[in-house]
Amino acid sequence: VGAGMGWHEFVSWTLDNDLPGLENLALIPGTVGAAPIQNIGAYGLEVAQLIDFIEAYDVQANAFFTLSNDECRFAYRDSYFKQNPNRFIVTKVVFKIPKAWQARLQYADLAKQFAELKTSPSAQQIFDAVCTIRSNKLPDPKVIGNAGSFFQNPIVSTEYYEQLSKQFPNLVSYPDSNDKRKLAAGWLIDQCGFKGKRVGPVGVYEKQALVLVNHGGGTSTDILNLAKNIQEEVLGKFGVQLEIEPNIL
Ligand SMILES: Cc1cc2nc3c(=O)[nH]c(=O)nc-3n(C[C@H](O)[C@H](O)[C@H](O)COP(=O)(O)OP(=O)(O)OC[C@H]3O[C@@H](n4cnc5c(N)ncnc54)[C@H](O)[C@@H]3O)c2cc1C
Repeated sequence: VGAGMGWHEFVSWTLDNDLPGLENLALIPGTVGAAPIQNIGAYGLEVAQLIDFIEAYDVQANAFFTLSNDECRFAYRDSYFKQNPNRFIVTKVVFKIPKAWQARLQYADLAKQFAELKTSPSAQQIFDAVCTIRSNKLPDPKVIGNAGSFFQNPIVSTEYYEQLSKQFPNLVSYPDSNDKRKLAAGWLIDQCGFKGKRVGPVGVYEKQALVLVNHGGGTSTDILNLAKNIQEEVLGKFGVQLEIEPNIL
């Protein structure tokens, strides 16, 4: 798939052409070429799980290269490309989608949509549900300035997770690899009272505490000051350091 194609347009195309597998990643803004840079992910799926290899131009070597999935060193919101900024221009992403399709419904928000369905939902139904959830929960960047999730979900040891969940029984988390647990950063921020909070022209989105918004006229300093305040409060209450997800230029 050419790097310049719109991501959501591509996901829709796969479903129209009977190639299900990417539906959990519907409606993520951006291009196909940007998708592997931070290894985009949502609702229990990361794009790296379905990438076979990547074609890229290396501006240092002045040559085109093919990088296998392993060579891309994908990790949670990370890749070899992100680790080497401005070195590679991704030109093509080659996907490998298993013929045996399976619904991925481990995220509670998504599973809830199908609670009353007696059979497993189709890929198209999951695609539609993801679009509905995202449209209801996330602000449209064309209407209100935002960069999507402003913080990564922190990953902690199972031991620390168990300690925290005794103290906070409603703690929202997801299983992660290697005996680790991913905590829902939005929940941590919400518990510190930030959801919907406004600080001058910037604030925390009222429907999703993970998203910082610019109501108009806010500067990067306003956003970073708010982010710092959130990081300090979350660290103080939960002992967890939140990392900023977008690139700060
Ligand atoms: C409302 C909203 C919701 C979002 N939801 C999610 C989500 O659920 N999950 C998620 O993972 N992300 C999410 N994001 C983040 C964003 O959608 C992704 O990071 C997306 O991949 C950005 O695409 P872009 O084309 O806009 O890239 P840009 O933001 O323009 O670029 C991102 C980075 O990739 C590099 N880059 C872009 N194209 C190429 C290329 N062809 N070759 C080499 N480097 C390149 C850029 O230099 C930059 O470093 C969300 C953002 C918003 C605004």
